[in-house]
Amino acid sequence: MEGIPSVTLSSGHSMPVIGMGTVSYPKPEPGALRSAMLDAITVGYRHFDTGALSLYGTEEPLGEAIAESIRCGLVKDRSDLFVSTKLWAADAHHDGVIPALQESLRKLQLEYVDLYLIHWPFGLPKEETKWPIDEEKIVALDYESVWKAMEQCQALGLAKSIGVSNFSCKKLEQLLSAARIPPAVNQVEMNPTWQQKKLMDFCREKGIQITAYTPLGANGMPWGTSRVLESNELKEIAMAKGKSTAQISLRWIHQQGATMVVKSFKKERMEENLDLFNWELSKEEMHEISKIEQCRGIQGEQFISANGAFKSVMELWDGEI
Ligand code: NAP
Repeated sequence: MEGIPSVTLSSGHSMPVIGMGTVSYPKPEPGALRSAMLDAITVGYRHFDTGALSLYGTEEPLGEAIAESIRCGLVKDRSDLFVSTKLWAADAHHDGVIPALQESLRKLQLEYVDLYLIHWPFGLPKEETKWPIDEEKIVALDYESVWKAMEQCQALGLAKSIGVSNFSCKKLEQLLSAARIPPAVNQVEMNPTWQQKKLMDFCREKGIQITAYTPLGANGMPWGTSRVLESNELKEIAMAKGKSTAQISLRWIHQQGATMVVKSFKKERMEENLDLFNWELSKEEMHEISKIEQCRGIQGEQFISANGAFKSVMELWDGEI
């Protein structure tokens, strides 16, 4: 993982600070996904983020790309890569977790993942694997029994580290009170237009690494916004430094101490997004960015209903909105 710095997680394992995201809509053909992942490995990415949710559909092509990269010597060894995947809500039941991870490992052609995350802080009936989901069917997550199964995944060596995604401070508190192994990571939306200051402070204190998803605002995706790449504040800084607006956003995340997963299937942008580590933002530039108007991009309205676990967006995020 030369050239890309790493952080050490509470599990003792290290994670490259930047990883390649793999979700895209509409979903490209598996062959195109496989070739994008191989491009990413070629330009230097060693950290990949996927998920079991059908919206991703990238575990298999990523697994093929990894196998190919080892076969052809692009990567020396499996241990040179960091791969994270996620437990989908339909499997977020005590007896569903290990079989779900085993299925992800089969698709990835791997013996272990570096990081296994609970994708969202809710459950769904076992048969609810489709996307979009029926929000009326969302049930509360049984933190104790599901996390115990996540801990077993780590104890069995199927996951080097375990963590969560889309958890608020309150939900992390709840989880921590049930945990023997604390979550190593909370993967959440984070970028200069949704800076997550409260959550960052909380996680720093608890030793939980924040990984930023949607670090460029997911511009062009149905869940995305152009607010990051169109931000006048970021554009001005980019112009003055001879960098792209995307690089300013990613470098800001790095200087906050968060790791990130950023998606591009274009080779030039993959390279651009990695070019972050031999320059920095000044105190004044960081201060300018701290003043940007804040707005959560992924509100999660599709998870709200009168009969489901969350009756409002406020409830889903415990007021962190
Ligand atoms: P993102 O990385 O912020 O943005 C991706 C979009 O930005 C793509 O349309 C990409 O287009 C474009 N892009 C990439 N680099 C660029 C550059 N240098 N200049 C201009 N445009 C650029 O959004 P994301 O994909 O939502 O987030 C990243 C990853 O986080 C996902 O892929 C997924 O792995 C993860 N994620 C997790 C969750 C969760 O619930 N845990 C939710 C959302 C995302 P091109 O491909 O055409 O370059």
